[in-house]
Amino acid sequence: MKVLVPVKRVIDYNVKARVKPDQSGVDLANVKMSMNPFDEISVEEAVRLKEAGTATEVVVVSIGPQQAQETIRTALAMGADRGILIKTDEMPEPLGIAKLLKAVVEEESPELVILGKQAIDDDSNQTGQMLGALLDWPQGTFANKVEIADGKCNVTREVDGGLQTVGLDMPAIVTTDLRLNEPRYASLPNIMKAKKKPIDMKEIGDYGVDVTPRLTVVKVTEPPVREAGEKVEDVDALISKLKAKGAI
Ligand code: AMP
Repeated sequence: MKVLVPVKRVIDYNVKARVKPDQSGVDLANVKMSMNPFDEISVEEAVRLKEAGTATEVVVVSIGPQQAQETIRTALAMGADRGILIKTDEMPEPLGIAKLLKAVVEEESPELVILGKQAIDDDSNQTGQMLGALLDWPQGTFANKVEIADGKCNVTREVDGGLQTVGLDMPAIVTTDLRLNEPRYASLPNIMKAKKKPIDMKEIGDYGVDVTPRLTVVKVTEPPVREAGEKVEDVDALISKLKAKGAI
């Protein structure tokens, strides 16, 4: 069974994002970038399937700038077998990404595609679902547990107030949630080995897919700055302040 894992290079989750002065987006100049954390979980899950003998090959694909090659290398160091970089400096929106991934799926014929539930840069949470729709494949989103048995993929999903288990006929789409697993750190020998693993370099034009944007970003703003707290002398003062604010 071949597993395809799409990985996105995003602003590192520890970095405090700064909005560009013209409010057109987030300033990415000189900012640390990393693999989307949910995609690390997807890579880990795919590598575990391979270690268990369920998967035979793990292919990672990233759509992004030349530097997204580093993101692919990270996945290769975690245990993926080979990578595909679809190079572009203009990041397509989720529908464009889903169309490109559909084209990759048609070329690679994986039985399972494991995506993150969302990319933490734009929090779209759309690509996996759109890919499922474009391919007309069943999907198990927000996976907390994935089990392959008797040609089926059983996905336990995180839903409001509990868990739901769905059985998917394969080929299928899974999107990962936070509690699915804890991704490994790549060891130094594996980082060295990953340098020799192949990465196929592609362009969007190779896939004959229309990725023309359909959305316009009107503006991006920072969250409102939190007001400073206030110290009060005693409980009575606290209560009268709260009453004055209408909180009690
Ligand atoms: P999103 O719908 O943008 O929140 O992204 C959901 C998932 O789609 C991510 O966790 C990735 O698995 C995949 N994805 C989104 N954008 C890309 C990209 N540029 N390259 C590869 N995978 C992507």
